[in-house]
Amino acid sequence: MAEFPEKDLYAVLGANASDSVQQLRHKYQQLALQFHPDRLVGEETTQLHWAVNRFIEVEAAWRILSDLSSRREYDLQRRGAGVYTHDCRCGGGFSLSKEVLEEETQLMEEDGLQGAVLVCCDTCSLSVCVTHTR
Ligand SMILES: [Zn+2]
Repeated sequence: MAEFPEKDLYAVLGANASDSVQQLRHKYQQLALQFHPDRLVGEETTQLHWAVNRFIEVEAAWRILSDLSSRREYDLQRRGAGVYTHDCRCGGGFSLSKEVLEEETQLMEEDGLQGAVLVCCDTCSLSVCVTHTR
């Protein structure tokens, strides 16, 4: 599993979790301009340090939220949603959100199949099959 900062990344960008990636980009660009070190030449050192830290924070938040899959993973963690995890023998792990399991298995059950989701290890090439029993 990826490690995310404790800080609320949406708050860092002054955005909402429901914002589209375009809205997030807009907020990111405004902040990046505002805190860009090049714009702060001549500022006091403490001010400069603060701005540089903010800039790094904003950059990091945007990097995670601009990518669909890492944003999704972050959203899950942020919501504290039910995520099933299982350790892999390689030291990596499998993880599957309840939400995904419900969605996927429901579709299959509608087709008369036993609902199951294939989950890949985040480190090696092993995968496990998760079945949903009601
Ligand atoms: Zn593995």
